[in-house]
Formats: sequence, C-alpha cells, structure tokens
Amino acid sequence: MPHSYDPTNIFARILRGEIPNKTLIETDHTLAFHDINPQAPHHVLVIPKGAYITFDHFCAEATEAEIVDFYRTAASVCAMLGVSLGDGGAGYRGITNAGGDGGQEVPHYHLHIVGGAPLGRMLS
Ligand code: C5P
Repeated sequence: MPHSYDPTNIFARILRGEIPNKTLIETDHTLAFHDINPQAPHHVLVIPKGAYITFDHFCAEATEAEIVDFYRTAASVCAMLGVSLGDGGAGYRGITNAGGDGGQEVPHYHLHIVGGAPLGRMLS
C-alpha cells in the first residue's frame, strides 16, 4: 500500500509556520525543535522538511541529501545539548515511533533525542 501523508498533521503545520515551535536548528532539509512535553531535561525532535511518515518511509524514499542532512543535524543537536560522548557528554537516547504498534502520535517522521539524566534500560 502506498504511503498516504496527511498534510494537516501538527508537524506539517509547524513546518508551514502555522504553529510556533522552539527551534534549535533549521537547515534546508531538516528542523530540530524542543519537544512541547519534555520527558527528560533534554528532549528535542528532529524532523525532515519533506513529507515522510515513518523511519522506513524516510529511509526508502528521501534523497541522499535529505538523509545526510537529517542525521548530521541530529548529530549537531547532540553536540549542542552536550550529550555527545565525543564531547565528553553522558549520552542520550534516540527514539523513533512508527505507526500504531510503535505508539506514533504524529504521522510525520521524527527522531526524539532525549537526555540530560540517566534514562535506564528500555530493552533487555
Ligand atoms: O513519537 P510520537 O509521535 O508519539 O511523539 C510526538 C511528540 O510530539 C510528543 O513527544 C509530543 O510532546 C510532541 N509534540 C510537540 N509539539 C507539538 C505537538 C506534539 O513537541 N505541537
């Protein structure tokens, strides 16, 4: 079944400037902003500007430029938050929910970067 992107989703509205956000980084292809309901001291969402619904949709259909820009921006977020191990930070968690079983609320692909406190183990 082809992907059917809903252009009324809240992140599409943020990208159109219809809803405010606390932007951390904006590039040609990517936006990173603070989550409105943070689950830890640091909680940033990284989203592509293109109309992609899930992680696999993005990886399968985005251009190489979009994919590289997305993950480089995510790395910049980690550096800006001071959580990157490469900068002596204490680490973080990257989370991507997809669809109903994955608990995805907003149907526009996003990477949560969560850190600033010990998060415990999710999977064992
Ligand atoms: O992965 P999932 O789709 O469940 O996460 C959506 C995230 O978007 C939530 O963490 C929610 O707090 C965040 N959100 C936001 N700004 C909005 C609406 C939702 O940061 N205006």
